[in-house]
Amino acid sequence: MASDQSWKEKYLQALESSDSREEQWQTERNTLERMLVRTSLASEGQAPELDKLLATVRKDLRKKSVDVEAWRELQEQIDRQVALLDERAEAEQAQASSAPSPDPLKSNAETPPPAGPVPGDERDLADNTERLRIAQRVGQLLGQLLDQLTLDSDAEARGRELQRALLYSSDWNEVREGLNHVAELVITAVNRSRGEFEAFLKRLDGRLALLHEHFAEQSTAQMDRLSASETLDQDIREGMARIGADIRESEDLNQLKASVSQHLSSIGDAVGRFRDKESDREKVLSDQLSAMQEKIAVMEAHSEQLQYEVRRERERAMTDLLTQLPNREAWQERLSFEFNRWQRYRNELTIGLLDIDLFKRINDGYGHKAGDRVLQLISRELKAGLRTTDYVARYGGEEFVLLFPETGPDAALVAMEKLRQRVSKLPFHFSGEPVTVTFSAGLAVFGQGDSEETVFERADRALYLAKDAGRNCINIEGEDAGQ
Ligand code: GH3
Ligand code: MG
Ligand code: MG
Repeated sequence: MASDQSWKEKYLQALESSDSREEQWQTERNTLERMLVRTSLASEGQAPELDKLLATVRKDLRKKSVDVEAWRELQEQIDRQVALLDERAEAEQAQASSAPSPDPLKSNAETPPPAGPVPGDERDLADNTERLRIAQRVGQLLGQLLDQLTLDSDAEARGRELQRALLYSSDWNEVREGLNHVAELVITAVNRSRGEFEAFLKRLDGRLALLHEHFAEQSTAQMDRLSASETLDQDIREGMARIGADIRESEDLNQLKASVSQHLSSIGDAVGRFRDKESDREKVLSDQLSAMQEKIAVMEAHSEQLQYEVRRERERAMTDLLTQLPNREAWQERLSFEFNRWQRYRNELTIGLLDIDLFKRINDGYGHKAGDRVLQLISRELKAGLRTTDYVARYGGEEFVLLFPETGPDAALVAMEKLRQRVSKLPFHFSGEPVTVTFSAGLAVFGQGDSEETVFERADRALYLAKDAGRNCINIEGEDAGQ
């Protein structure tokens, strides 16, 4: 009987244990069923065939019991579909890495961005794609920036290299490095541009200062010119003030450049207006100047005529009308001139006094006109017989005076003797008969203590002595006339 008890207890224990295991299994099964349902739902949308299989799984799970053989078959179909999905994903990856880089300009949210071989889940893939898309956009902006900026050749080359990396690289690390360099490049470019702009403003300031200086000088001119200059000066000052204000207030370089250009243009217009007015004023002045020049030309011509007439009058006043020889006034002037030269240089200077012999007889014998004719012919002969450096004048009546510069008494005597012979040989004919006309002369030489008058007096004395000696002869002062 003890063995029956033992078996019964073992049976009950086994039964209890079996119930407990079934309960645990049922719990586990429910949990697994729920997980399977959720997993199948989450896996939906990959492929229609797979979706159908997953729907069958969920349907079978709702049954009380599972057909193990049928599930084995279902399991194999699901495996095949998953394998197909994996193959398709790999093919797409290979195609993406070998395909040409997308055109950055066409890159947008609709166009699937290139997907690099980035490990990780779908979230990583999406993040990487988004970063590359942003990098491409930065590359485009960098290109626009490089087109607008003026950089040195090194910076330009570096910028273009970065632009290429940003546009076409699918390596995020390379792109990230490039983005850092873009920041440096932009800072360099802005600094350089600011430097250029500052230099431009300095040049501009220098030019405006010159303009200002120039027009400030102009403002000291005539009243209307002063007014115009002040207006221009004000325009320029205002323009400069506006430029200064823009420089202080503006933060945008391009806007500042445009603004400065506009102000410069305004200043240019003001200068243009001033120039136009100036040109009008210049034309008026030019016309006035032309009229004045014409008047001056007329006055100059008139003045020349007057000067000519004055010279003619003077010559007439200094010339003997009958003989056309220099007259007594001319003689005095010439005597003074030669006397002064003699006083300064002390070169020999001799004067001669000449008187026609018995001239009264000619007048009386052949008429006054015959006498005039004798005077004219003798005058011509005297002038013709003298050297150009010698001088002869009609002193009055039938008396003549002569000057022999650089000439001593002996040489003067020779010259006078030649004249005497020439005159004595003149073939005068009056009333059908030949008439000989002669003259007598006295010579005197300038010496220590002499004046014009003392020398003249000595010459006159010598002449008197020549007359006294019988006429038709020449006497040197201090000598007895006798030939
Ligand atoms: P001598 O030899 O002493 O000089 O005698 P002379 O006749 O020349 O002296 P005199 O002085 O007495 O005479 C000068 C004359 O000359 C007097 C005057 O009428 C004349 N005579 C003076 N001037 C002119 C002139 O311009 N024309 C003419 N035809 N005769 C004049
Ligand atoms: Mg006389
Ligand atoms: Mg005489």
